[in-house]
Amino acid sequence: MTETVNVDVKLGVNKFHVDEGHPHIILKDNPNMTEYRKLVNACPAGLYKLEEDGSIRFDSAGCLECGTCKFLCGDTILEKWEYPRGTFGIEYRYG
Ligand code: SF4
Repeated sequence: MTETVNVDVKLGVNKFHVDEGHPHIILKDNPNMTEYRKLVNACPAGLYKLEEDGSIRFDSAGCLECGTCKFLCGDTILEKWEYPRGTFGIEYRYG
């Protein structure tokens, strides 16, 4: 018998150590919206938001450090992408 995996529940057990004032990912001022829309669907943490009025919202605090945004879109939307400083970032609880 197989058990359905709930990704939100799995992600909810991780712990994040946020480096306040030093985001490890910074978007460009005017990111390419075609590229940005890719990440609305591709970011596994759902951090790339598109509001109903067309504005964008991004917060790196829940980042899984998977690198998907860096490799999919690179400098078309990103001003900076680097791993968080030591002791900050995600702490995976189950692998
Ligand atoms: S590194 Fe992964 S989890 Fe973090 S913002 Fe990029 S796509 Fe999302």
